[in-house]
Amino acid sequence: MDGLIDRVTAAELSLASITTARPHIVIIGAGFGGLSAAMRLGKVDADVTVIDRRNYHLFQPLLYQVATAALSPADIAAPIRGILGRQPNTNVILGTVTGIDMTGRAVLIGQRRIPYDQLVIATGARESYFGHDEWAAATLGLKKIDDATTMRRRILVAFEWAEDSDDEAEHRQLLTFVIIGGGPTGVELAGALAELAKAALARDFRRIDPTTARIVLIEAGPRLLPSFPPKLSAVAARALTRLGVELRLDAKVTGCDCEGAVLGDERIESRTLIWAAGVAASPAAAWLGIAPARGGRVPVMSDLSLPGKPEVFVIGDTAQVEGLGGQPLPGVAPVAKQEGAYVARVIAARIAGKRAPAPFRYRNLGNLATIGRKEAVVDFGRLQLTGRFAWLVWGLAHIYFLIGFRNRMAVAVDWLWSYLTYQRGARLITGQEM
Ligand SMILES: Cc1cc2nc3c(=O)[nH]c(=O)nc-3n(C[C@H](O)[C@H](O)[C@H](O)COP(=O)(O)OP(=O)(O)OC[C@H]3O[C@@H](n4cnc5c(N)ncnc54)[C@H](O)[C@@H]3O)c2cc1C
Repeated sequence: MDGLIDRVTAAELSLASITTARPHIVIIGAGFGGLSAAMRLGKVDADVTVIDRRNYHLFQPLLYQVATAALSPADIAAPIRGILGRQPNTNVILGTVTGIDMTGRAVLIGQRRIPYDQLVIATGARESYFGHDEWAAATLGLKKIDDATTMRRRILVAFEWAEDSDDEAEHRQLLTFVIIGGGPTGVELAGALAELAKAALARDFRRIDPTTARIVLIEAGPRLLPSFPPKLSAVAARALTRLGVELRLDAKVTGCDCEGAVLGDERIESRTLIWAAGVAASPAAAWLGIAPARGGRVPVMSDLSLPGKPEVFVIGDTAQVEGLGGQPLPGVAPVAKQEGAYVARVIAARIAGKRAPAPFRYRNLGNLATIGRKEAVVDFGRLQLTGRFAWLVWGLAHIYFLIGFRNRMAVAVDWLWSYLTYQRGARLITGQEM
């Protein structure tokens, strides 16, 4: 199948390069950054090729809702061809990039070479286990749809097995869920998991009481949501405590295995360990043969191009871009989207022979995180919101930024339904058991 896809797209591409002499822009990755660039290059006098290893764009901020059975995978993903289908100058390739030949100006997909005149690398990030790669096998990550459906299966199966178990210790272990990392993903997961156990599943079992499930959120630093103001961290901590989540702050995980997590002298027995603690950039620095900055990111110039290689741009979670105070910009969707839009402007100006735009400046539109179905924290700088109103702002922002009318409608209806009924519509155990 892969071979067939490769042959068809190779034929399409060589046809494109024979029939046109226009510049060829290649974008690797159709996530927030790559797609933002591609959508703004639709009217540029150039051929655009978008390469992604998946055939869909994924709205990662709502992955945790798929993992906790609130939304279905198709609600938060949209086919790349569908999004870019109305751009006649844009071709999509399904393939996994394995390297870049900067001297020969070609992107490598295995043996295959895709030539470029301008290249945008937007391949995002992957999990990082702080030098403990062996923890990957013992914990559940959350970067892909498959991760979310695996997590959903593991959570739901834990309740099923606990219902079937007569062994008290096993019972407790199955109903203990450990989340490692108190950033937005960990906080949102903890809140959603608590509501799943304490409301949606509360009446579904006969032998166990799902509301007794223990949800432990572990954070190595002194407070949750370290990228938010301390006041909002405290609001999030109180909201989670009200939901019954056990908070372990200033607590470093020193070991993880399939039966539990170790925190120094203490061991927490659990079959479900969730990793929400660290990410590292995609391996683009290795493809480019340059020394990466912190977190594997690629340091770029103020126009987001590589030093000495003005035709190569790196954006989003893969790039290291300095903000106003000299601090690296955070790995969040708005940064990637603004960088993608900016790079499209630089490339369009070059092709049109116009002056380059001013150096990239990030406009921080605010930080948002939700805790369950009633509480959220929103940081707009001088204006900070909490409570139901913040939750409404959070919900509207996420619906607005979802791609595709169908997805917006589906998510809005699902949220309204679960808000009114406390139910979770996507409580399906799919795939292999554990
Ligand atoms: C669980 C979770 C929750 C998050 N919550 C929030 C939030 O609430 N708010 C927020 O602003 N941000 C959030 N983020 C961060 C946000 O999703 C990222 O900052 C953003 O996706 C970065 O955009 P990007 O374009 O750099 O990468 P991505 O959006 O990750 O896109 C990268 C693309 O590159 C493709 N790709 C990767 N490697 C290859 C390869 N070798 N070959 C071909 N294609 C490849 C991938 O398939 C993917 O489509 C969250 C992230 C996660 C994982």
